[in-house]
Amino acid sequence: MPLNVQKLQEGTVIDHLAAGTGSRVLSLLSMSYPISKVAALILNAKSKKSGRKDIVKIEGVFLDEKTTNQIALISPSATINIIRKGKVESKRQVEMPKTVPGVLACPNQKCITNLERAKTTFLLAGKGQLRCRHCERLFSADELV
Ligand SMILES: [Zn+2]
Repeated sequence: MPLNVQKLQEGTVIDHLAAGTGSRVLSLLSMSYPISKVAALILNAKSKKSGRKDIVKIEGVFLDEKTTNQIALISPSATINIIRKGKVESKRQVEMPKTVPGVLACPNQKCITNLERAKTTFLLAGKGQLRCRHCERLFSADELV
């Protein structure tokens, strides 16, 4: 039996999230957007591509580039579907940003960005890893979000 979740009229469906990442994505969104309309978090949905996936649906919210990039860091497999007038208007896969300026804190306590409260920049180093431009340490993407 498919689960009946209310269809969106105007909003965003974030599909193909790696199973286990949906609740993090929803809490990320709730920090950036007022969630005042219908929102749904679906965990462990069946996926043809990857076995299990999480899905986030959110009415009345369209994501900016910064938030989309943060979702890519949490789950590079995610797709963003824009819903207008009850139909899928566009669908695209998120992309890992090549550089991530200023939005993440460096986990290295001794990094100059933490000592001087300077802005961070991370560079994509392949395979979901990012390198801090200041202390040059490597971190996995989901460690940083
Ligand atoms: Zn650093």
